[in-house]
Amino acid sequence: MPQYLQDAYEAGILSANHRSAAFMNLYREVHQLFCEKLHMPEDYSLLFTSSATENWEIITQSIVESASYHIYSGSFGKKWINFAQHINPETEGLKIEADQAIDVSNLNIGEKFDVIAITQNETSNATQVPMEVLEEIRDKYPEKLIAVDTTSSMGGIALNFSLGDIWYASVQKCFGMPAGLGVLILSPRAVEQTERKGEKGRYNSLNFMLENARSFQTHYTPNVLGIYLLKRVLQDIPEIQHISSRLNDRMHQLEQCIIQTSSLRLLVPNSETRSKTVLGVTGTESLISEVKKAVEDAGMQLGSGYGPLKPTSFRIANFPAITDEEMDKLMSFLKNY
Ligand SMILES: *Cc1c(COP(=O)(O)O)cnc(C)c1O
Repeated sequence: MPQYLQDAYEAGILSANHRSAAFMNLYREVHQLFCEKLHMPEDYSLLFTSSATENWEIITQSIVESASYHIYSGSFGKKWINFAQHINPETEGLKIEADQAIDVSNLNIGEKFDVIAITQNETSNATQVPMEVLEEIRDKYPEKLIAVDTTSSMGGIALNFSLGDIWYASVQKCFGMPAGLGVLILSPRAVEQTERKGEKGRYNSLNFMLENARSFQTHYTPNVLGIYLLKRVLQDIPEIQHISSRLNDRMHQLEQCIIQTSSLRLLVPNSETRSKTVLGVTGTESLISEVKKAVEDAGMQLGSGYGPLKPTSFRIANFPAITDEEMDKLMSFLKNY
């Protein structure tokens, strides 16, 4: 990362105007790299925003026609539905438990809903919705758009973009970059619906963004440094299936390590709903605070449990930028509990 920063400075890209050829080339390259490395379909649109949180608002404001229906189990999914309800009171949702797989055959999402919203990787409680479940939802509701929060999984696991229409992330999770840049990816159908809705006039109205994106420009002066760093990160990484299999193997080892301890337990016992990029670990309140302190004293970092889970759990990020050596060190430490 320090070298990339130096290169950005020397290449003069930081002072490039966002209507310049240099910027347009950068945008085009990043789009191409999303196709090559993350297997985004060529005909999907890639847009730059400021964060995943901004994308929550853009989706309801600019894409949803009548209402969105949210299926969620944790805090990020809940924040998303709350933002959506604030803009559109017709928004509804189904709250499920962390250990509960989405029961697609019993889902009953009415005519009124044109967008289904799924938090694919729920960072707060360390759960995920596997691609197979997205596929079942797709098959059951082919006429609805599917919006997927992949903030903490894009760049880490292989996503099948054809199973959804709206995908988003921010770069500080699996891309290992400094925060302050979000990406929003749209299928041709999502673009069509946005155009049909015709919402305009806000600084982040999606139609305004899409108009500019067609010529690889942006609607305001963007985070050029972030976009440049994203290009460098994407150039450096292998294709996503290789990253995905490395993270899967490492997650398996990490889970085994926790299972074999005498007093720590997996926060999410159901392997079908357990995340691949963040592992939740639970134990008694006194044990969790003891482990957290000991790990920190040894110069390593753990994520605290989120919200109500804070006192009795911690989270381990299994993001690509974390080295195997770092993970081995953490495991050899945790196995003693
Ligand atoms: C981190 C995170 C967000 C929020 O991302 P910001 O970039 O802070 O807006 C949203 N959803 C999920 C699942 C996250 O992990």
